[in-house]
Amino acid sequence: MEYTLISKTYNEALKQDKLLGLKCKDCGAVTVPPAMACRQCAGQEMDIVEVKGDGRIRTFTTVFVTSEGRESEVPYVIVLVELDEGPWLMGNLEGIDPNTASMELIGKKVKMGHKVFPGDKYSAGEGVSPLFTLVE
Ligand SMILES: [Zn+2]
Repeated sequence: MEYTLISKTYNEALKQDKLLGLKCKDCGAVTVPPAMACRQCAGQEMDIVEVKGDGRIRTFTTVFVTSEGRESEVPYVIVLVELDEGPWLMGNLEGIDPNTASMELIGKKVKMGHKVFPGDKYSAGEGVSPLFTLVE
């Protein structure tokens, strides 16, 4: 069994603000981030599609303690976003003061860009992650 969409391809696209997902040939559900099987029906026949990255915040957390080497980044907000295409995707939220983040964030519309992280003491190098901004 081969992976249709590997992390390297997904991450390279993310660095260009392109979000790649997998669309199931059986049920049509979109899976993001890449996985071996459809999140809806566990089918394994999927095509690579580009997902817009627009959605609504469903929950969030504010991070005050992070891994060694990234202390300068805290505090920051991590959001779980339900994308318009259906899948839920985790990423950072920018443009708000993490110290005042409140339940009012839940349900707000966001759009996606990306953020490149320098490697820390425990990773193999730089990483990339979705970076959301509020649109309303
Ligand atoms: Zn499916």
